[in-house]
Amino acid sequence: MKRILALHTGGTISMSKDIGGGVVLNEKNPLLNQNELFSEEIELIVEEMFNLPSPQITLSEMFLLKERILDAIEEGIDGVVITHGTDTLEETAYFLELTVPKKISVVLTGAMRSSNEIGSDGLYNFMSAVWTAASDDSLGKGVLVVMNDEIHMAKYVTKTHTTNVATFRTPTFGPIGMLTKGKTFYIKEVMPEEVCDIQNIDGEVFLVKAYAGMNGEIFKLLNTESLAGLVIEALGAGNLPPAVLTNLQVILDRGIPVVLVSRCSNGIAEDIYAYEGGGVELKRHGVIFARGLNGQKARIRLIVGLNSDKDSKGLRAYLEGE
Ligand code: ASP
Repeated sequence: MKRILALHTGGTISMSKDIGGGVVLNEKNPLLNQNELFSEEIELIVEEMFNLPSPQITLSEMFLLKERILDAIEEGIDGVVITHGTDTLEETAYFLELTVPKKISVVLTGAMRSSNEIGSDGLYNFMSAVWTAASDDSLGKGVLVVMNDEIHMAKYVTKTHTTNVATFRTPTFGPIGMLTKGKTFYIKEVMPEEVCDIQNIDGEVFLVKAYAGMNGEIFKLLNTESLAGLVIEALGAGNLPPAVLTNLQVILDRGIPVVLVSRCSNGIAEDIYAYEGGGVELKRHGVIFARGLNGQKARIRLIVGLNSDKDSKGLRAYLEGE
């Protein structure tokens, strides 16, 4: 008998459509009392940690989830399932990936249709996530995201569609496994991630997206006194318009880490192009390339790195994934 802890945090999976047609939070989570689904094999322990739409989830809630999972490891729990709004689910998943030792399985899930809508996917995804957390094959694979019968790594999974139930995808690499009739089937090994034991989540880190004709005005608006770090979703393989360079240099000269990823949904940002504003020049000026992460994940990694005990060289290596 496996002991699985379900932590509910809110999101569409715990909502329903009201008579006006709007999707609203329920006072009572529709996923409570589903224990009989698993009665033979699994003891399900249920806790409602928050009841928030995920745009209201902050690093503070992510930190509390991390602390709760660390306690669960001490309590001898075999696996944790977190239900979460899908909008920011990937950020919470990646934060936990970076901060929770891989001693038990941790699985996040959500829903695209609320509990009383036709074709609601909430209970099904919840059930799949519980089966995944209870599977011996999930151990050591890091934090997983289970939606729509697919199993994804927290590091690379992203929400790709506003409403489709097949919204969670892993561009470039694909899912690492799938579920068939409640059974997990893995097709890929997972590279281990460094786990940081952080006690704080301090520091303002902004995320900025590059575009054609961008100039450096946006960097002038940032208060470099309070700025702890900056992530830029750059163009293509990792390039920026030359007009941003002077103001970006002011931030770099202050020793503030500037992390670069691509705004492309597939591929890796690298120092390939040697023209003005190209990746080669950006890297030479101290910009850090976080390979393969999207902007929101790079921001989470930078915050975790800043709150660990790394010096600036260690922080750079951590962000470059070395
Ligand atoms: N807006 C909702 C949320 O993230 C979407 C969802 O849960 O699917 O809370």
